[in-house]
Amino acid sequence: ALKCGIVGLPNVGKSTLFNALTSAKALAANFPFATKEPNVGMITVPDKRLDKLSELVNPQKIQPTTVEIVDIAGLIKGASQGEGLGNQFLANIREVDAIIHVIRCFDNDNVIHVETTVDPVRDKEIIDTELVLKDLETAEKALEKLKKNAKGGDKQAVAKLEIGQKIYDHLSEGLSARDLELEDADKEIFKEMSLLTAKPILYVCNVDEGSALNGNDHVTRFKELVKNEDAEIILVSAAIEEEIAELEDYEEKMEFVSEMGLSEPGTVRLIIASYKLLNLITYFTAGVKEVRAWTITKGTKAPGAAGVIHTDFEKGFIRAEVIGYDAFVHYGSEAAVKEAGKMQVEGKEYVVKDGDVMHFRFNV
Ligand code: GDP
Repeated sequence: ALKCGIVGLPNVGKSTLFNALTSAKALAANFPFATKEPNVGMITVPDKRLDKLSELVNPQKIQPTTVEIVDIAGLIKGASQGEGLGNQFLANIREVDAIIHVIRCFDNDNVIHVETTVDPVRDKEIIDTELVLKDLETAEKALEKLKKNAKGGDKQAVAKLEIGQKIYDHLSEGLSARDLELEDADKEIFKEMSLLTAKPILYVCNVDEGSALNGNDHVTRFKELVKNEDAEIILVSAAIEEEIAELEDYEEKMEFVSEMGLSEPGTVRLIIASYKLLNLITYFTAGVKEVRAWTITKGTKAPGAAGVIHTDFEKGFIRAEVIGYDAFVHYGSEAAVKEAGKMQVEGKEYVVKDGDVMHFRFNV
């Protein structure tokens, strides 16, 4: 499954948010380092289309798609030099596909801030600095290797070295790798180096309960700071999200949400945003046994999509029968779609679209 890591300074609300997301009970306590081990939770990706398809097909089982969330223990100034839980923390970040960076934007004298005052701009810079420093160390080692490989004059190796040097110079200026403009093909080297600051990032401004809708001064400052970054910002009040998560009854949850002036729980917005951040889309299989959502990366072709279900489906792929989501809903059933002649039969080169309802034919 795809993994998102929640990071941020201690006491910014990471565990609270993690609890709200997973409804698992990680230890949310009012002192630094309450979350020593990474906490891992699987969360389902909410999708109204899955509900609609299930309504039409009435299957025995409904299976949404999932994202893995990891609550990563607090990073502090000096972590790249091993301060606090520094190195463990950084190792955990290396394993995630995307970063959810929680920024404290709520005032509360009862909740200690490791840097004494609430200041989202400074906080972000502390985290960024630690990650960039760690990446610089990684890039330096990688660069030595690239230099060795390029010594013989091999064209590819020389080209790679050039990119490596570019990345290193960029990091040396204290900038995150994701902000470096490179050809997509050249970005492969980010993966090889497994740079922390190359991972896609989503900022979560954790605000007090009165500011979940319109933000506050901390949020305004923070937005100004990141306005040139290619990143998304989401406002949530983690404390409230936790309360919402604890409500058993769906109606009750939604009532609470609308009383806050919101249309959806912040956790839902967050999950959907993470999914987008990772460039993921969903296709469906809709049988009477099971209606199920499957995750693929945008641009995946039919055999690759089949491979998510089973590698044999990919190996033996013959063709895919595809019904667009809207067509399925419009005609109301697979049989009705077929009768109307609206089912597409697609081959190996078909690029799967978000919402496609798929049926694969394959050799075993
Ligand atoms: P972590 O160290 O980043 O994981 O932070 P925690 O989630 O443990 O939260 C630290 C403290 O801040 C706890 O006492 C939480 O109850 C409190 N807290 C977290 N989110 C909020 C929030 O949105 N508003 C307020 N007022 N307090 C919060």
